[in-house]
Amino acid sequence: MELPFSESYKIKMVETIRRSTREEREKWIKEAYFNLFNLRSEYVFIDLLTDSGTGAMSDKQWSEMMLGDESYAGASSYLKMRQTIKDILGFPYFLPTHQGRAAENVLFSVLVKEGDIVPGNSHFDTTKGHIEFRKAKAIDCTINEAFDTTLIHPFKGNVDLNKLEKVLENNSNERVPFIVLTLTNNTAGGQPVSMKNIREVSQLAKKHAVSLLFDSARFAENAYFIKIREEGYSHKTIKEIVIEMFQYADYATMSSKKDAIVNMGGFIAFRDREIYRQASTFNIMFEGFVTYGGMSGRDMNALSQGLDEGTEFDYLETRVKQVEYLGNELIKYGIPIQQPIGGHAVFVNAKQLLPHVPREEFIAQTLGVELYLEAGIRGVEIGTLLADRDPVTRNNRYPELELLRLALPRRTYTNNHMDVVAAALKNVYDRRDSIQSGYKIKWEAPIMRHFTVELEKSKIKLF
Ligand SMILES: *Cc1c(COP(=O)(O)O)cnc(C)c1O
Repeated sequence: MELPFSESYKIKMVETIRRSTREEREKWIKEAYFNLFNLRSEYVFIDLLTDSGTGAMSDKQWSEMMLGDESYAGASSYLKMRQTIKDILGFPYFLPTHQGRAAENVLFSVLVKEGDIVPGNSHFDTTKGHIEFRKAKAIDCTINEAFDTTLIHPFKGNVDLNKLEKVLENNSNERVPFIVLTLTNNTAGGQPVSMKNIREVSQLAKKHAVSLLFDSARFAENAYFIKIREEGYSHKTIKEIVIEMFQYADYATMSSKKDAIVNMGGFIAFRDREIYRQASTFNIMFEGFVTYGGMSGRDMNALSQGLDEGTEFDYLETRVKQVEYLGNELIKYGIPIQQPIGGHAVFVNAKQLLPHVPREEFIAQTLGVELYLEAGIRGVEIGTLLADRDPVTRNNRYPELELLRLALPRRTYTNNHMDVVAAALKNVYDRRDSIQSGYKIKWEAPIMRHFTVELEKSKIKLF
């Protein structure tokens, strides 16, 4: 008999989580104005809000914490991180930052100016924010296949080279500070970019004398998909694939809260010494001195160890297979999800799951609240609340897809937890005909409203 697949680690420390009753959850979610961000974490049984900074560190990472050097300048922890970034990503220069968006803030302070154009594949929201804040424009050149949730394509994060070439032809290279490749593509559902596409984007960038930046939060998951799905890579190690990927990049920004498996941290990596030097000034202003940049020595140590562990095949296989496991359980129950299943999350198609809720009443948010009421599980809305209002007309922007994202923290939950999530969603699905209405806004912030919005039921109804 073939042995079943199982995790490549065992558990040394546990944290108690508590099941609540439906009555408790009804009270708590009402007090939270039906916004899952407003819930206390102790009111959540299985927390799939995000995979950012929520993973479990290993025994080796915790031991590294004890060896942290907290010197202001020249700490051994900084030198260790520098060596790791050189060994694993192949960059000669780097700056530590407190998280990914801080890396964007520092690097873009050097590179992006008013009127610039930054093409890429579905820019992450903070990336786009830091571009637009500088009165520059982000242009999405993702392949069209990414927007069809049921279409199976191995690399839905890929850039459409024709779209990119058009942008590069229509704008002088002085207007394009860099192209940004998001690996994997979070906004399109944790979808990877192929090595072939990376190579072709790099060739186009060279042809037009434009730099290439990798937004690298989930680069290791991207490398895993290249190994599994792309011809010619099955015999290579993840670390070999990672080095090959990054050789095409001039810069990398990293949120270490994802694939470096730490709770806080980030960095910028550079090839060019001059840009590194210019960025150092901004790092000192915004983050901290160049040898710590907003991180403690112990955190830099854990990050270095995490980068090493996060680029090991056995770990990545466990990680991605758990996401697949949850996705396949949902498919078995007939629940519509984004396919193929991505690297860090399962995206549930809320429009299909709750066909009676009008779009004005926030379909994916309604599904998120129902899943919480069902079993204390917290996902996150990727729909109309997140899409926010048109800045000019102030009307709601209705995105094509209403998704509920279930992001899996790394090395944190077991597949038994995944079974609970799948069964809870099936129960919601089975009673979908009784869910006829959603929510209306009671209060919202002028921008990024989804974090703090306060909702009320659109119609008085009994749970
Ligand atoms: C999380 C993330 C960021 C921002 O990083 P933070 O650490 O949350 O500031 C940028 N890009 C991508 C693709 C991300 O996933």
